Amino acid sequence: MEILARELLRHQHLYHVLARPEISDAEYDRLLDELLRLEKRFPQLASPNSPSRRVGSDLDNAFPERPHTVPVLSLDKLYQPEAVAQWLRKTATACGGAVGFAVEEKIDGASIVLYYDRGELQYALTRGNGLVGNDVSDNVRTVAQVPLRITEPAALAVRGEIYITRRDFERYNAGLPEKYANPRNLAAGTLRNLKSALAARVPLNIFAYEGFFAAGGRDHMEVLARLRDLGFRVNPRLGFFSADGERRRRARALFPEIADGPLEDVEKYLRLQAEGRRALPYDVDGLVLKVTDLDLRQELGYTAHHPRWAMAYKYESPQAASRLLDVQVQVGRNGRVTPVALLEPVALSGSTVTRATLHNQDYIDMLELGIGDQVSISKRGDVIPAVEEVLEKSEQQPAIFKLPGRCPFCRTPLVREGAHHFCRNEECPERRRRALAYFCAREQMDIETLGERTIALLYEKGWVRCIPDIYEFDYGRLQGEEGYKERKIARIRESVEASKSRPFARVLAALGFEGVAGAVVAALIDHGYDDIDKISETAAREGWEEFAAVEGVGEATARLLVEHFRKPRNLETIARLRRAGLRFRAESASRPRLDDSFAGQLWVITGSLERFTPRSLAAEEIRRRGGRVAESVTGRTTHLLAGATPGSKLAKAEKLGVEIVSEDEFLARLGEH
Ligand SMILES: [Zn+2]
Repeated sequence: MEILARELLRHQHLYHVLARPEISDAEYDRLLDELLRLEKRFPQLASPNSPSRRVGSDLDNAFPERPHTVPVLSLDKLYQPEAVAQWLRKTATACGGAVGFAVEEKIDGASIVLYYDRGELQYALTRGNGLVGNDVSDNVRTVAQVPLRITEPAALAVRGEIYITRRDFERYNAGLPEKYANPRNLAAGTLRNLKSALAARVPLNIFAYEGFFAAGGRDHMEVLARLRDLGFRVNPRLGFFSADGERRRRARALFPEIADGPLEDVEKYLRLQAEGRRALPYDVDGLVLKVTDLDLRQELGYTAHHPRWAMAYKYESPQAASRLLDVQVQVGRNGRVTPVALLEPVALSGSTVTRATLHNQDYIDMLELGIGDQVSISKRGDVIPAVEEVLEKSEQQPAIFKLPGRCPFCRTPLVREGAHHFCRNEECPERRRRALAYFCAREQMDIETLGERTIALLYEKGWVRCIPDIYEFDYGRLQGEEGYKERKIARIRESVEASKSRPFARVLAALGFEGVAGAVVAALIDHGYDDIDKISETAAREGWEEFAAVEGVGEATARLLVEHFRKPRNLETIARLRRAGLRFRAESASRPRLDDSFAGQLWVITGSLERFTPRSLAAEEIRRRGGRVAESVTGRTTHLLAGATPGSKLAKAEKLGVEIVSEDEFLARLGEH
């Protein structure tokens, strides 16, 4: 097993790092199968760094916190090549002139620190707050370019950047149900994947850029060469600048492809790299310049925040930089918890941003975001601002923000489902208030006089605690409350009264049942569920399959519908609203049923019709005669009404042997009515 493991790791390195395989894939698979067979038989002998660990596991990962042996500090940043060149000259002078600078690409990925001892990878930590990171070892072990074993017996810490190429990102992201915004987020998200078997599917890469050896080597270039010789992937796109020709010769001897020159050449090099960065297969957000002499590094030391011996040259100033002041925990009407970033106000594409969404705990963990951190903000699709990245960790409160264990409004313990946390207490005052606000909002019942403030007042007073209360409360009692004069109260009464004439579709959506919104409501009504009683009756006999048969209603929503319309509380809400005079039948349902001449028929309509515009008028005629109408042609379709320029539905209907009916023929079938 030991010999096989060593041999397989050697071949992985040849293939994934050096791109110089010595054996065929089939031969490799044969060796791996043999090892897997032995590990299955003798699991107690399997090494935690076995090459079989590359494929990951289906067990849930835990990401315990561990301290870094050397704190991971952030770098000082400059945005202009001339300013960087000036920093370089100043630093060289401070070192007495005899100094060399390495220039490395700043890859836009996720930072990682790998800890080795006795030649084995012990664990891998995220950057975290710089002092403490999360142990993501099992996921990192699946990255084929990360050496699991090395020929260095002493303790060694290696810093690197895990990234995905733009091409792999496009390809992999396309298949994900929830898309990542950019390659960096995908790389960082993968390191926190709960199952390492899933992480193993993401084609991640690593570049190592810093090594902390127990002994020997007082120069960064030697450290990089040593890492490379131990099997780490070191970025070959490397620059070295020094006034000292002898130092440059030594750097060239270690890295024959290095770009080197005197200090005066640095500015030109920075500009060339910035111009050429789009041609690289991965995202680079800048360059890092480092003093290479490790003793000089110690002499130069650190400011309160950064090493004095290194500088980041960032290609673009962030879209907007701000500071995270606090995180507001919002609870929606269905109990879903959303963390919202409260930011120091910052101008961004024409508006002032003070809040940004943080989605959920996973997103916060991926950013390793804590209160007080400097962050960069972007506007996606120019609508909702998002926190993109932590630019610098706060010194004061270095922790990563965690959602509270309990709902901040009702103290019920939060439950996690999928990526989100939920307050499951239906009596939660915040959920109730949100449900009322949703019901009254412009998109739903449009009761404009019941804005957030009035609802909050009515709720606090205990006057309006649930939706039917809106129609049963005597608004005259508002008299005497600050800001509620007779005229205002009259206007509230009027708009509440006016809302009673909103169509059924809007009433149904306004109830705010989870999963029952615009498109689902429209689909239900279109397919004959145009009366609340029809929905309740189907739910009462647990007919979720009938709901699921409706085009546009999935199984999950169908089951939710049954659940919603069996709950006594919801049925009582509907009964009270009905008594108040709200509409619980669609207009089409109130048109009289004519006859049963289309009973048992399932129609699909395609093409444009001369006498029925919109086409829904034709659909209505079918329904008035007991027929049903669907959106797409399936095995259950009985008739296709084909107008002018029919689409692909016609071909499909012909293939399935569905009866094709022209508009004239249709008119004839409608008969005397
Ligand atoms: Zn709650």
